[in-house]
Amino acid sequence: MTDDIKRTVVVTGGSRGIGRAICITMARPGTHIFFNYASAALKANETIDAIRAAGAKATATATDVSNKEEVTAFFKNIIESSGRIDVLVNNAGVTRDGLLARMKESDWDQVLNTNLKGTFFCMKAAVKSMMKQRYGRIINISSVVGAYGNPGQANYVAAKAGIIGLTKAVAKELASRNITVNAVAPGFIETDMTAVVGDKARAAMLEQIPMGRLGSSEDVAGAVLFLASEHANYITGQVIHVNGGMYM
Ligand code: NAP
Repeated sequence: MTDDIKRTVVVTGGSRGIGRAICITMARPGTHIFFNYASAALKANETIDAIRAAGAKATATATDVSNKEEVTAFFKNIIESSGRIDVLVNNAGVTRDGLLARMKESDWDQVLNTNLKGTFFCMKAAVKSMMKQRYGRIINISSVVGAYGNPGQANYVAAKAGIIGLTKAVAKELASRNITVNAVAPGFIETDMTAVVGDKARAAMLEQIPMGRLGSSEDVAGAVLFLASEHANYITGQVIHVNGGMYM
């Protein structure tokens, strides 16, 4: 399964956490990994080093996925230097948690604009090239909460559920061009995003996970690698849950 990733891979939010693990898991000789990040340039450099150590080329750019002009420029550069985009992983995401009654409009907007609109912008920018070459693999990172809800995360849940709908609609639009579009929905994964969860809430979460542990970024990256590989050629419009049995 590890030798059949096509040449040009684009990952959003590759500087840390799950995005970094995806970049590294996809990296192999003959592959060029382009990734972006919001602002963590030093972290991005660590990802670049790890990609290169695995024998792939790496290019990283600070690009805000919620900014259409920045996204357009990011993909223009990729097409100019690589001529194609084979795999797109929409991973960049943020949380701004709070109960609905107290949620600020700015927190709603930031979460929707980064997670959902960012995915829309990136897919739109990448599909022309994929349609022309009649090949593409798009993997959107949703979340278990997008399928079953979570109090205190109305903005995030709406965005992640939106990603599932968006994935299915675009999968139907692009299937005849040999472009698959799938979602991966991680459960509770150990990253900076979940480091802020307090001990009590963490223990309560663990109780809901039949496998009895939090997931790792690599657990998620494995599912993404599968969907990007030739082993998943006939899979489209699906959501793969990576959650240790937390939600079935
Ligand atoms: P993380 O450790 O907080 O990393 C987030 C990544 O996204 C970073 O690379 C960050 O860049 C980038 N990013 C944030 N806003 C961006 C923007 N506007 N434009 C471009 N890049 C941006 O998060 P994670 O836990 O790895 O999560 C990755 C994805 O998995 C997210 O979509 C998240 O919602 C989803 N997810 C995570 C979990 C979990 O338990 N961790 C569960 C379900 C789903 P900087 O480093 O520059 O800030």
